[in-house]
Amino acid sequence: KELPADPVTDNTRRQVKEACFSFVTPRKTSKPELVHVSDEMLLEIGLTTDDAKSETFLQVFTGNEILENTQPYAMCYAGHQFGNWAGQLGDGRAINITEVVHKGNRWALQLKGAGETPYSRTADGLAVLRSSIREYLCSEAMYYLGVPTTRALSLALTGDKVLRDVMYDGHPEYEKGAVVCRVAPSFLRFGNYEIFAARQDDKNLKVLTDYTIKHFYPHLGEPSKETYIKLFNEVSQRTLEMIVHWQRVGFVHGVMNTDNMSILGLTIDYGPYGWLEGFEYGWTPNTTDAGTKRYRYGNQPNMGLWNLFQLANALYPLVGEAKPFEDVLNQYKLDFEKKSLEMMRAKLGLVAEEPSDVTLTAQLEDNLQLSETDMTIFFRLLADFNVEQPQNGLSGVHKAFYSPDELDDERKQKWNDWFADYAKRLKREDTNSMERKKQMNAVNPKYVLRNYMAQLAIDAADEGDYNLIEELYQLLKKPYDEQPQYDKWFAKRPEWARNKIGCSM
Ligand code: AMP
Ligand code: MG
Ligand code: MG
Repeated sequence: KELPADPVTDNTRRQVKEACFSFVTPRKTSKPELVHVSDEMLLEIGLTTDDAKSETFLQVFTGNEILENTQPYAMCYAGHQFGNWAGQLGDGRAINITEVVHKGNRWALQLKGAGETPYSRTADGLAVLRSSIREYLCSEAMYYLGVPTTRALSLALTGDKVLRDVMYDGHPEYEKGAVVCRVAPSFLRFGNYEIFAARQDDKNLKVLTDYTIKHFYPHLGEPSKETYIKLFNEVSQRTLEMIVHWQRVGFVHGVMNTDNMSILGLTIDYGPYGWLEGFEYGWTPNTTDAGTKRYRYGNQPNMGLWNLFQLANALYPLVGEAKPFEDVLNQYKLDFEKKSLEMMRAKLGLVAEEPSDVTLTAQLEDNLQLSETDMTIFFRLLADFNVEQPQNGLSGVHKAFYSPDELDDERKQKWNDWFADYAKRLKREDTNSMERKKQMNAVNPKYVLRNYMAQLAIDAADEGDYNLIEELYQLLKKPYDEQPQYDKWFAKRPEWARNKIGCSM
């Protein structure tokens, strides 16, 4: 049997068998500097803002110092990437430094970009400031939007240069290295279970699954075949719920590989994600997925299902029967239809349920794609729709159209028809317009982390100016509130920012 590698000296890349993780030592950084710390997350783990000002905090959260009585480790997992089995992947640049239990909650603290591990394969184990800002801001923004997600505690520069692109003329291009401390009850992914099933290591598959139930799903009871199915069922439900939230706010993950699917149903691994500006089912922010657009906005619910199918395969050896897994997967399909409709009803301010809502929402989704229409702005403006004047519906949402000229008479007619139907439908509701507006504004955010906003924060930070990170961080803590002082962020993407995601690793 292979023993865990020496925690101090052995970070060598290798296939790790019969283990869920490997002890590793984070890499020392040359000139660590904190860029931002989340006050809220500090409180969640039992620290204060003063603690965050200490030298120890800086050193611990950049990997330079290891807390007493802790042993940092990287997790072993596999995964299906873009539909293909990829074998062992693992935490190639993420290191769990410790766990904290505070106020009854368990938190794992993980440094992303803290150096190589046995799972780094051909890469360097590092992260750059650009992608770190994107993860830091977006994960917190998602939390405040009410979307299940991993969180972020701190963002720091390492002082080291990281090689990312070699330019066409052969010149290397360096970027600033950074470390984000991200936080979640657990970072376990579907891939953690898949790897044992693929290696026919039923023993460790059971160890890990039982551990998962004991710590994160204790209400399911003692491990048994029934409990494993219950676990799968709950993971399925949570995954679907998470994805319906993504659809609601217009978030496109971009890399829904099974190694990026949390066993807790949290949004995890903020890489080439993007926010819908123009509502478009075919849109993906991931340029490496431009061909089949596997992870496009409209396909996210399907990909959730596909990934759950892989998880079912992974857990199958513990149960030995396919039917109960199939039942759960079939239920996902039914629930998807149901929950999507519920979500769209909420976005439209509809409380009662009517069969015709299916057509009303489908028609709206079609109309939103008639010309480039900003999803966030559209739904926010729709809250002011006047039921008595459906003929003014279109002008009420005018600000949401990127090229209003594209709306020829035929398209205008489609919109006017829809607004007329919507008005009729609203008249059959009991809520008054004030109540409705309030309900709609509670599910339709006013501010999201538009792709160009993150890019502006990145450009400024690259020059040493972190004010915009702080501004966006504060703004996105209250995404549903009117914040007139920030209304420049309630605006369409400027033209220069089209297709600018800035996503490379
Ligand atoms: P991702 O596409 O970000 O989910 O990453 C897929 C796999 O590549 C995971 O095993 C990551 O840990 C690994 N990986 C990504 N970037 C790096 C890096 N810079 N160094 C080492 N491993 C990496
Ligand atoms: Mg990943
Ligand atoms: Mg990643």
